[in-house]
Amino acid sequence: MAQPPSRFTPGIKPFVAYDDPVIALMHARVIDGTGAAPREDQTIIIYQGKISAFGGKAPDGARVIDLTGHTVMPGMVGMHEHLYYPIGGGVPMYPEMAYSFPRLYLAAGVTTARTAGSVEPFTDMNVKAAIDAGKMPGPRLYITGPYLEGKGAFAPQMHELTGPEDATRFVEYWAAQGVTSFKAYMNITRAELKAAVEAAHRHGIKVTGHLCSVGFREAAEIGIDNLEHGLLVDTEFHPGKQPDVCPQNTRAEVARLDLNTAPVREMIADLVRHHVAITSTLAVFEAFDPERPPLEQRFLDAVSPDAAVNYLAARARAGSGRGAAAGSAAAALKKELEFEVAFVKAGGLLVAGADPTGNGGALAGFADQRNVELLVEGGFTPVEAIRIATSNGAKLLGEEARIGTVAVGKIADLMVVSGNPAARIAEIRNVKWVFKDGVGYDSAKLLESVRGQAGLR
Ligand SMILES: [Zn+2]
Repeated sequence: MAQPPSRFTPGIKPFVAYDDPVIALMHARVIDGTGAAPREDQTIIIYQGKISAFGGKAPDGARVIDLTGHTVMPGMVGMHEHLYYPIGGGVPMYPEMAYSFPRLYLAAGVTTARTAGSVEPFTDMNVKAAIDAGKMPGPRLYITGPYLEGKGAFAPQMHELTGPEDATRFVEYWAAQGVTSFKAYMNITRAELKAAVEAAHRHGIKVTGHLCSVGFREAAEIGIDNLEHGLLVDTEFHPGKQPDVCPQNTRAEVARLDLNTAPVREMIADLVRHHVAITSTLAVFEAFDPERPPLEQRFLDAVSPDAAVNYLAARARAGSGRGAAAGSAAAALKKELEFEVAFVKAGGLLVAGADPTGNGGALAGFADQRNVELLVEGGFTPVEAIRIATSNGAKLLGEEARIGTVAVGKIADLMVVSGNPAARIAEIRNVKWVFKDGVGYDSAKLLESVRGQAGLR
């Protein structure tokens, strides 16, 4: 029988392993993304891009995939997934990885990605359009506008707001261009943040922040929807904090904070009361600890020689300050984990994302997997950590009816891994296929196509 012509462009076709209209995933272990215990030996029917049934036998004509020994999970919903990467230098630059990063995210199991701050918004939007049109592989993207940064930006790719009116204009302009979220940055003033949040909310658009000049409780009061990175960037407990000014608070200082004191507990309660979500970005913090992140061959394979040298040099520099640097990075990471556990225990919505910045050690996709491992290290069960990386993100995006769990009626955005991440969370790295809209992509082929490219393009 002749094959029908492929509905995929040459940009996508080499990576597609399964594109049959009916697919039956048989004998799979399912971790559904709700936090429920895994279910063994399940059948999932994918029909025209959606999950149409659980159980039963494969319909006639279905493509049958035997997943004995494999686990099916929802695709990750990454909430801090920049399309840029640091290349260092005296003037810090963050070039777009429009070629390699969408592939890396998808290969790692990230099927939905909020970009959480853009330095090339038109590139981000055009990459999204190309992915949606089936011209290149990548996750479904939710584009965040350029940074809402105040005076004192450290990166020349950022605009510095000149006041609240400018913040309103900025939001109006980029909302009209089609961005679907905003991110406030480290030097924004409370008045600028307030103007931006009000303008964004008028458009039904959420605002997140990597803040410093504004404390978490101030931001919650203003109406921010989400805060990136967690306790490690909250400056409100810094003894010398001046209003609207980003102080030099150190990781060591945060690491000394006692989470059981009234002010910290009140801050957590305040965020929960205001429905402010927190985005966990543990991998990028861990990368600063020279003794911790295992140097992975897959990382060295994916990055360009220059990017590998940059990262290895940063790692060596941190290592030469062994003791102080490693000690404070490790203590800060531990404190951040304690905070995230306490935040969830208090009823807060915790989501996760890669944040491929810092010293370059947190790479698109791999860092999303590493985050899940670190959440487990912090005390979450594997299925809870997977929920944080999947359905919680969908909830914050307002897309939980369509994506984020393995359930009948949802879009078939799934990752298939060999092994059992519920028993050994590191097996989340063993991604074989990633389904997006019911199309199965070959993870190894996507990774092969970016060999040596990350950090370059
Ligand atoms: Zn970021």
